Amino acid sequence: MKFPARLVDGYCAFVDTRLPLERSRFEKLAATGQRPEAMVICCCDSRVSPEVIFDAHPGELFVVRNVANLVPPYSPTGFTHGVSAALEFAVQGIEVKYIVVMGHTHCGGIRAYFEHKDRPNPGDFIDNWMSLIAPAAESLGDPGEGPDYLSRLEQASVVATIGNLMTFPWIKSRVAERKLELLGAHFDVGTGNLAVYDPASLTFAPVSGELLQDAAAAAQ
Ligand SMILES: [Zn+2]
Repeated sequence: MKFPARLVDGYCAFVDTRLPLERSRFEKLAATGQRPEAMVICCCDSRVSPEVIFDAHPGELFVVRNVANLVPPYSPTGFTHGVSAALEFAVQGIEVKYIVVMGHTHCGGIRAYFEHKDRPNPGDFIDNWMSLIAPAAESLGDPGEGPDYLSRLEQASVVATIGNLMTFPWIKSRVAERKLELLGAHFDVGTGNLAVYDPASLTFAPVSGELLQDAAAAAQ
């Protein structure tokens, strides 16, 4: 039997160091089930692990990862919808309080859309999947010459994805009842900075002490 050496080494390190510290947590989670408060929808990109970025323990985050952290609009067609199934389980089963859509800088999926949008490759999975961000791209208008266009598109796509989440009737109703909050974030791979979406100003702002205070007040 073969298994990649890096993964075997990593698992051995987990058994030696983290598992002893987390054993009681794992045992409790196995006995009582998971009850994470937050669902995170993020990219498959290996540099953007939500458990690392949010310093999360087992059982704390319900994570869905796909290319460019997208959610197709609600479409009960009977086909196999992986993201929709995960949303249904998180929202109606686990009853998470937050869904965080987290984009990131240097997103290869966003770049693929930008570079291929005028010449999509028929049958290509990434191009078909990335067509989901066409509305976000249209909202930005002409890309122009600005060097930050791809970052702005990454952020616009997060906002559009939150809009797509609201097309799910059981998400829309829980948001209206204030049982569920939809949040946007954008992670800078190079600096580690996290910006969060402010619906009032329609901008992304760095995580600040003010936000932390709001979170602390909400937790009381
Ligand atoms: Zn990405």
